Amino acid sequence: MGRLFVEFVDDAVLAKYACCHCGCDIASEASLLWEGYMAQCTPALLFRCAVNLSPCSPKREETLSTGRYILVDVRCHVCCIRIGWRYLHAEREEQKYKENAVLLQQGLLERVNSMQALRRPALPRHFTAAHGQQAAPPSPPGPPSPPPQRQPLG
Ligand SMILES: [Zn+2]
Repeated sequence: MGRLFVEFVDDAVLAKYACCHCGCDIASEASLLWEGYMAQCTPALLFRCAVNLSPCSPKREETLSTGRYILVDVRCHVCCIRIGWRYLHAEREEQKYKENAVLLQQGLLERVNSMQALRRPALPRHFTAAHGQQAAPPSPPGPPSPPPQRQPLG
């Protein structure tokens, strides 16, 4: 039997999707194009690119609600579960962005936070992300607060 190569999705992304059966990486959340349905009722995710997938059917022409396509089914490279399909060709110009993208069944994917997302500390409430600095806490109403360094009174 040939040697099995498993690719990994870059850890720097916030979250990624893995095969829910064997846990191997499939796609980064950054490459998610669209969330919707396949075959009317199965929740599905469209990814611009994915790893560890191999074709598992002959190419076929199919007419879907958005037009006519040439598709090929894809399966997880490791556990061989059929997980969705790849768009090889889209007939309509406005659907061309789907070419080479993969539509995968959401129920067969597990969303995983990356190591970096887990390591990042939670920001305090008054931290302003826009400036990267701590904002001054709101000053209470009333007399102005005393100067920060008082002189000793003899
Ligand atoms: Zn798998």
